[in-house]
Amino acid sequence: MTDWISLIRDIPDYPKPGILFKDITPLLADPAAFTKVVDGLAAGYAFDKVVGIEARGFILAAPVAIRCAAGFVPVRKKGKLPAETLEASYDLEYGSATIEIHTDALGPGDRVLIVDDVLATGGTAAATVDLVRRTGAQVVAVSFLMELSFLSGRERLPDLDVRSLVTV
Ligand code: 5GP
Repeated sequence: MTDWISLIRDIPDYPKPGILFKDITPLLADPAAFTKVVDGLAAGYAFDKVVGIEARGFILAAPVAIRCAAGFVPVRKKGKLPAETLEASYDLEYGSATIEIHTDALGPGDRVLIVDDVLATGGTAAATVDLVRRTGAQVVAVSFLMELSFLSGRERLPDLDVRSLVTV
């Protein structure tokens, strides 16, 4: 099989000048690499639900859920979920962002694996952990394809099992 890490490419100055964006689309297009990543994100954990973070998190979390006979729960940007929601806001470099989860999507007794593609500053993942916990569910682990360690996002996820398949 192709070395899957080499299928993540750097895109300079996206989405803004000075940002080096990690583009996972070539990896997703390679069936063996995609399968290996999906297996790696879930390996060793026991959970009932997989929470995927919009938008690239959905692409990874849904096959993890199917593979592990778990349910899939979306966390979306504000205004996209149709039923009653809980919301959490977090700071961005400029301004803030708000994400939501359906109030009835999870509850006490649910063991949750949170999945996203990239851990950068950790703001998105920390807000997602907050949402999941407010439903009464338990966060088993937070699993990423890639961690950008120079942004120290892991520090915003204290006392959690945080897994990254590759760290740069
Ligand atoms: P954070 O909140 O940790 O700063 O940013 C993480 C979120 O932004 C994730 O949902 C991730 O999809 C997105 N993100 C930030 N930087 C990158 C990147 O270089 N590549 C990709 N694919 N996503 C990124």
